[in-house]
Amino acid sequence: MSKVIHLECTRCGSDLPADKPQNVCPKDGGVLFARYDLRSLKTNFTPDLLADRSATLWRYREVLPDVGPISLGEGFTPLLPSREFRNVWIKDEGLNPTGSFKARGVSVAVSVAKSLGIKKIAMPSAGNAGSALAAYAAAAGLEAHIFMPADVPLANRVECEVYGANLTLVNGLISDCGRIVAERKETEGWFDVSTLKEPYRVEGKKTMAYELFEQLDGQLPDAIIFPSGGGVGVIAMWKAFDEMEQLGWLTNQSRPRMIVAQAAGCAPIVKAWNENKLAVEMWKDSATVAAGLRVPKPYGDYLVLDILRRSKGTAVAVTDDEIRTAVRDWGKHEGIFAAPEGAASLAIYRKLRMSSGADPPFLSENERVVLFNTGTGLKYLDVFQGRKHPVSRHIGGIIGPY
Ligand SMILES: [Zn+2]
Repeated sequence: MSKVIHLECTRCGSDLPADKPQNVCPKDGGVLFARYDLRSLKTNFTPDLLADRSATLWRYREVLPDVGPISLGEGFTPLLPSREFRNVWIKDEGLNPTGSFKARGVSVAVSVAKSLGIKKIAMPSAGNAGSALAAYAAAAGLEAHIFMPADVPLANRVECEVYGANLTLVNGLISDCGRIVAERKETEGWFDVSTLKEPYRVEGKKTMAYELFEQLDGQLPDAIIFPSGGGVGVIAMWKAFDEMEQLGWLTNQSRPRMIVAQAAGCAPIVKAWNENKLAVEMWKDSATVAAGLRVPKPYGDYLVLDILRRSKGTAVAVTDDEIRTAVRDWGKHEGIFAAPEGAASLAIYRKLRMSSGADPPFLSENERVVLFNTGTGLKYLDVFQGRKHPVSRHIGGIIGPY
């Protein structure tokens, strides 16, 4: 593993020391990125070294912080060729510990927190990040304080309890949960691991991009569709492409177009993108079946919008009905029970393959596209149950689907 030489502010470029806990840039609140000595690594870290390494994200140890990993087997999830569409792959993040891609960021963040001597960590969560934090804090022997909206999927709540975390259900959204953590963290002595308010969840999630490179035999796809609430997946993969470029891994190939998937009931990034803004406005009355996409004001909005511009990508929203249809279609055609957030990728892929009037489609059938399923649908049984799905009825003692 590599020493983080410093943490760099993504707004003003200031450097901060990495040998003590840091949240955001003290000058401007900018998101901090961990920086390594990539120039030295360039000669020593080559893709052929990876072949025999363990099938976890820690296989990319040269570009991860030099700490003792708190690992539950996260990362290196399958990249499955679609059975429905040519040149499309599904990256199934539902096979991570705690059933979502959140395990990646939390594994690295908790590993670093433990190495820095932190004892208590706190996080507001729309659902799956809280589950992941509860599990990794348990594995690390840290005290976890998690704040979730009261109407998160049942699995997320039960998981926090099983892993022994301190869970508070809040009558509000993740933004309300975040405010509570911010207000109490100083007096309680909590380290805040909110999305993008500590530097290492990005480090864990960036490994998704390294995996795509490895699983596609040293090539990157032409486009990536990623469901985005806080937007960390997109931010983190883009950072990984920067690193791969500096490591000399990306010769003669361009980076993928990055496509953000949001839900119509909470689409602040889509709105800002369509209005050509540099930051998002708080989305009022967020409501969607995809709990993880209910982030009304993502902290890293300026980074996501910049990546969309630089990658010639786009941001698209789909309705809850389209998401539910996509969940069933992925189930039927691919054998994958996707989280509603993940299924939004499929719904958006279909939209972008259709031409709008005289305009050619945004994506052609020849373009190699990766759709991210960010979690398993098994964590949303209560969400799916009874909502436009066949419901079991009890008749004379026989239980059957009708
Ligand atoms: Zn700054």
